[in-house]
Amino acid sequence: MLSGIAPRVFLPGNMAELLAIYRQNPNALLWAGGTAIGGLRKNDPQYARPKKIISLAMVSEIAKVSRTERYLEIGAAVPYNKILQVGQHVLPSALSQGLSLLRPMPLRNLATLGGNLAVRGLRLNAYPILLLLDARIELRREGRNRWITMQRLFDRAGNPILDSGELITRIRIPFEEWDLGYFRQIGTPMNDLRSSLSFCCTGKIVKATVSDLRCAFGTFSPLVIRNRELEAFLSGKKVPFTRKEREEALAMMEKTIAESPGISSFQKNRARELFDWFIHVLREPD
Ligand SMILES: Cc1cc2nc3c(=O)[nH]c(=O)nc-3n(C[C@H](O)[C@H](O)[C@H](O)COP(=O)(O)OP(=O)(O)OC[C@H]3O[C@@H](n4cnc5c(N)ncnc54)[C@H](O)[C@@H]3O)c2cc1C
Repeated sequence: MLSGIAPRVFLPGNMAELLAIYRQNPNALLWAGGTAIGGLRKNDPQYARPKKIISLAMVSEIAKVSRTERYLEIGAAVPYNKILQVGQHVLPSALSQGLSLLRPMPLRNLATLGGNLAVRGLRLNAYPILLLLDARIELRREGRNRWITMQRLFDRAGNPILDSGELITRIRIPFEEWDLGYFRQIGTPMNDLRSSLSFCCTGKIVKATVSDLRCAFGTFSPLVIRNRELEAFLSGKKVPFTRKEREEALAMMEKTIAESPGISSFQKNRARELFDWFIHVLREPD
């Protein structure tokens, strides 16, 4: 799969071994499902010719899904299909839609959330929806673990804040009564980054009134687009929105899209169209 001189491969059998090996080899490439590494290796020399690889395959501590009354906790190395299967009754709808969009289907037996979040220079499907769901991320390195919000996982330029020898280990999603979950994807980021885009929303609509509506665009750069002012504007409004409300909301979103760096004009147009359509058809779910 990888070209050039054969890399040295580490296969830690548990978390303690993984953290120790990663501390000693902080430049090694972590290998979860290997799907993004495989898909991006043509364009990224670090993926094409890693000197050292640390496989996460045998680390059972990050291969589990568990739940409490308050949250669902997903190990960073759990394959999508297991997440979808174990979490079928409790996963927020927008997240299961986003994970189910990964094609071809066999990739879902390999692809993981940790790998999706950590792809270099690109916020793929999982990040925007986990952001909207107020998920928290556990980061571990030898001798330290910390829980951070999704916002804090990347700096303003979209670079991960992971320290040397630190990796993503768990993702915690609080349980909330979402009435609405929506995920759409245009194109695929592995084929053409300038024409791919994802749009996700989650929300609560009670008695035809929006009590909480969150939307984000991703899969176009290391950044995502979200307008909290717009979300506050829509909160408390009845659905369907009036024409004036839609026009005002669209103008706010257009401004945010226009100001976002790293998004092509094709993506801008599609983002505008998707949002316009979404606020047009939004109704109280049955
Ligand atoms: C044909 C094809 C189509 C795809 N389409 C989509 C798509 O439509 N939408 C989408 O979102 N993605 C898509 N992907 C990308 C990819 O499959 C997913 O993002 C997947 O979730 C990556 O997970 P993985 O476990 O395979 O990551 P890997 O490939 O193993 O790793 C990806 C990166 O994350 C790092 N990493 C892995 N685990 C951790 C960890 N626990 N902590 C820190 N760093 C870590 C690795 O070192 C590497 O840099 C596609 C890929 C292919 C090949």
